[in-house]
This record gives sequence, structure tokens and C-alpha cells, in this order.
Amino acid sequence: MGQESHAFQAEVSRLLDIVAHSLYSNKEIFLRELISNASDACDKLRYAALTQSELMAGDGELQIKISADLSAKTITIADNGIGMNKEDLVENLGTIARSGTAAFVEQLSGDAKSDVGLIGQFGVGFYSAFMVADKVTVLTRRAGEVDGWRWESDGKGSFTIDDAADAPARGTRITLHIAEEQQEYLDKARLRQIVKTYSDHIALPIYLLDGGKDSQINEGSALWSRPKNEITEEQYTEFYRHAGHMFDEPWHVMHNRQEGVIEYTNLLFVPSARPFDLFHPERSNHVKLYVKRVFITDDCADLLPPWLRFLRGVVDSEDLPLNISREMLQHNPVLAKIRSGLVKRVVGELKTKADNEPEAYAAFWDMFGPVVKEGIYEDQGQRDDLLALARFKSSEHEGWVSLEDYVGRLRDGQTEIFYVTGDDAAALKDSPQLEAFKAKGIEVLLLTDPVDEFWIPGVSDFSGKPFRSVTRGDIDVSAIAGKDGVTPPEDETDTSGELASLTALLKVTLSDAVKDVRPSRRLTNSAVCLVADEGDVDMHLERILRQHNQTNEVSKRILEINPKHSLIRRMAESVAAKGEGALGPDAVGDLAFLLLDQARIAEGEPVEDANAFARRLTSVMERGLA
Ligand code: ADP
Ligand code: MG
Repeated sequence: MGQESHAFQAEVSRLLDIVAHSLYSNKEIFLRELISNASDACDKLRYAALTQSELMAGDGELQIKISADLSAKTITIADNGIGMNKEDLVENLGTIARSGTAAFVEQLSGDAKSDVGLIGQFGVGFYSAFMVADKVTVLTRRAGEVDGWRWESDGKGSFTIDDAADAPARGTRITLHIAEEQQEYLDKARLRQIVKTYSDHIALPIYLLDGGKDSQINEGSALWSRPKNEITEEQYTEFYRHAGHMFDEPWHVMHNRQEGVIEYTNLLFVPSARPFDLFHPERSNHVKLYVKRVFITDDCADLLPPWLRFLRGVVDSEDLPLNISREMLQHNPVLAKIRSGLVKRVVGELKTKADNEPEAYAAFWDMFGPVVKEGIYEDQGQRDDLLALARFKSSEHEGWVSLEDYVGRLRDGQTEIFYVTGDDAAALKDSPQLEAFKAKGIEVLLLTDPVDEFWIPGVSDFSGKPFRSVTRGDIDVSAIAGKDGVTPPEDETDTSGELASLTALLKVTLSDAVKDVRPSRRLTNSAVCLVADEGDVDMHLERILRQHNQTNEVSKRILEINPKHSLIRRMAESVAAKGEGALGPDAVGDLAFLLLDQARIAEGEPVEDANAFARRLTSVMERGLA
């Protein structure tokens, strides 16, 4: 076949453009990225050879070799891993396959300064080669295949693919033609130092060709199998970045060896930044599974529950058979035991963090709280522990509060944990349904993650105290003590005939638009609010379900009116004095629907008929001027 030219996917071109023009100071990380890929390629081959041993034939020692040629001004990184065929090359070195990376590139603004920061946090994998090279040549042959291939590009919009008889017998050899101003990287001492800094943890030997002979420049054993006290923080961090394809600092490191009936080592990391695919619907876990130091898979659904999908790192089992296939991992009893051991460990460590370092824990909860809360309804066995780990925004306190804090502060006469769900804590705090609570300083938890609507119905109580939505059913806080600890005598609600006639009139006027109209014990300042009937779905949940096309139901709500509000009082008085026509022709209808619409707006619901709303508002305003 002759040479074929391919255009890079648009996102790749964009990324390359930024990579080439940025003044990114940390260019040396190109070597870390290429070594990381070479190591992944060797892991993949070792796994494939478990079932096809011929793939390893003749070249059993997996390794990475680095060399620099001063006269040709090239650096070469070679591995004898899985290699790539033509389709692999087009797919892997022409597009951005990883969903996270594609999303990341979409965020790039083209503004070199801010993009550089982002790249630093994220990394650009293979394409980082173009930070130091003005041309990159990849020679590669896929294990078990006959044809070898050459991929070449100057990183400016396109690449070529050719067949290549001179490709390595197996694996990949990447040659970087170092740009004029980057010649420092041709220095062997420099290369050695970069490998030591970033890639010492790589479990394969890395050789540097120096003075005509290969010398191994890294430790070459699996980092997680080394004793903890021999591992530096930097080594953990670099390992985390390599194993997790992450570019931040780990928030927490868990390195443990489990001994006994089931033996395994875990080296797990909690990131300090949200991975880009955290809310991807697949919810896949990213921890790599090894068996006796051999990589098996980074996509083992049964290793950890989805609500721990933010974890990165490795688990290495001594008990699973080496020739285990990914299919055999499903419903595997050994794996099930490892999983429950890991869950217990992680939950325990999070609890320690929460107890000892509340501020650091708050940062964790900001990042991963919504994901952990999925476990409350998906993992019955963890429910109580996870409820104890959960943190909430509160109507009475800044920052995060725990349920334990809340229950510890219950007022005299208070038997329930009050909460309200919505999209935004600040808006919730001001919602009319909270007025009576705020007036007495009774704490209400502000639940603002969509997931809250899903675990709440399944959890009956915490510490024996039931959860209670303040936007549903009849709420009465009159029996609960105020801030000073005193329960004020009940302020007689106006049950006089005046209010009753107004209520009846509103009910008739609004008829089908509401489920009921009734005097409120929730309101102190606002004239009206909407609430869900006791057995009905809460309004916020119904909105979420509608947004996700899970329902097209629009439940009727109860309109509560504030008997103490001057508007309501005056309406009640006129209706009592002059009867229905008292407010002028059509006025009752206008006022009733305007009250309902304002309650809807406060609730974040659209008004039902915007034109009718505008017409009514106009006529009421005109009457006001008259
Ligand atoms: P990532 O490593 O995060 O997947 P990269 O940009 O670093 O992203 O690499 C892209 C892909 O190219 C890899 O996923 C892999 O499939 C392929 N690749 C890169 N280098 C090699 C190599 N040395 N051997 C085999 N495949 C490789
Ligand atoms: Mg990579």
C-alpha cells in the first residue's frame, strides 16, 4: 500500500495547536506520558497472553527502552507491548477517544494563558510529544499480526500512515524529532532525571541506552508491592496520575495489604478534583484490577460499587486465578469479598477524615458528595454509615452540617428532621414554605442535589428521627420551642367566617387549577405558597422527573394562604362585607389566579398561561391607579 494521509479530528487539531503554541513550562512531562502509554501497552499484552501465550513468544521480557541520538536530534521510546495495527493508529492517534478528554477540549478557550492551566491539570497524553518535537514518527506492529506500520506527523492538521517493514517485531517505537529550541532533552542525564521523577513507579524495567549499553534507570517493581515506608509522596502522586489517567494531586491515599483468608493489596486514591466523566451515565469504575502483579482489567464492574467510581488506583489479588477472563469476573465470590473489604476500608477512612479533618472532608464532600449519596439507596448495607458521612446545607448554619449535628440540636417539641429539596440553596433559604421555620430559627436541611430526591423516600429516619419535607402535607411548628427554648402560646389562627368565605370563594374560582385552598401555618411574610398534598410527589421531584421525561404528570397542588397577611385580610374583609362581587367585575378571578401564579413563580414553576397572567396583572394595576 502507498502512503495515506489522514486529517486529525477537529478536537485533536485544536489541542495540538494549543500544545504547540503554549508557553507550557512543564514540557518534560511528554516523557511521562509516552512511558505511561508504553507501560499500558505492555500490561495489555501480558493480559492477552494469558489466553494466547504465542503472543509473547520469543520476546518474553516486557520492557521500555529510551535512547537519544545527538546528531540526528531524536529521542526514541520503544516498547515490546501490544503494538497497534492500522485501524488502531487511526483511532488512537488521530482522534480523542476518551470521552473525558473530548469534553476537556471543548472547554478550552483558545486563550493560551488559561488553557495552559487546564492542560496542566488534565494532561494531553500522546499529543504532548508535540510540545518538544516538530515531527513524530511511530513504527509499530500489533502482537500476533504480520504487517508493520509507520505513522508520521508534524502535528499540524494531518498525519500519514504507511506500511513499514522496518517496524519492530512486536510493539511500538516512537521517535521524536526534537525541535530546535528543545535540545536540552537530548541530554541523557536530563532524561534519566525525568524518568526518576515521574516514572520510577512503573512496574517494568525502563532502560536508557548510554555509552553503547542499556542501563536500567527505574526501580522496576510494582509500586504497590513495595513497603509503604519506602515510598515517597511524590511517587504516590506520579503513580496516581499514571494509573488513574489523572493530573491533579490525590486528596487521600489508601495503601493496604489485606492478609488472611482473602489476600490482596489495594493502592487507592481519592482525587482532589472531579474527574470529567464523574456523571457519565455509565458510572463505570476506574480502579485497575491486577492478579499477582499481572494487569487484568481497568473495567471491572464488580470490583467496586458505582458510588465509589471517583476512586483511582489498583487492587492486586493473590487469590484470583491468573487466567481469569473478564467474563469470569462477574459474580465471582472472591471478588465479592474483595469488594466488601474495599468498601468497608474506604468508608472507614472517610469517617476518620471526617472526624479528624473536617475542613479537608468538606472539600471532599463538595466534590463527591452527590456520588456517595447514590450509595444510600443503592447499598442497603452501607446506609447508616453513609448517612453518617453525608453533609448538608442548612437554613440556620453556614457550611456543611451532618445529621448528627442536626439531631443534636433538635428543639424541644421537635421530633422530625425537616428538609426542603430544590436546585439552589440560596433560593431555597428564601422560599415561602420556610418562613415559619425561619421565624422560630428551626433548622431545615437544604437538599440541592438531584440524587437527594431518590434516597430520601427510601430512608425512614436517622437516629429514630423521621425525615419530613416542609413542602408537603400539613406542617405546624407551633408546638416546637423557639430560639430561646420557650414555646410561645399558640397564636390563634383566624378561623373566623371571613377567612372561611374567602377560602371557599378562592376554591370555587380556581376550581380545577388546585387541589385545595387552605389557611397556612407555614407562612409569615408571603401571602401564598404552594405545597404538595401529603401522599403526593413533592414539587421539585416532579420537576426533575419531567425534565428527564420520566413523567408528564402535573400534579395539582394545594394553595396555602397566609391569614395574617394584610392582602389576604383585606380580601377576606371585603368578601365578607360585600359578597363575591365586592371586588369589582372579574376582580375575584383576577386576584385568585394572580395569587396562584405568584405562588408558582416562587416555587420555580412556570405560570400556566403567560398571556392571561399579563392581562390580569395589567387590569389589577389599572384598577390600582383608578
Ligand atoms: P490514554 O493513554 O489516556 O488512553 P493517550 O493520548 O496517551 O491517551 O494515548 C492514546 C491511545 O493510543 C492509547 O489509549 C493507546 O490505545 C494508544 N497508544 C499510545 N501509545 C501506545 C503504545 N506505545 N503502544 C500501544 N498503544 C499506544
Ligand atoms: Mg496515555
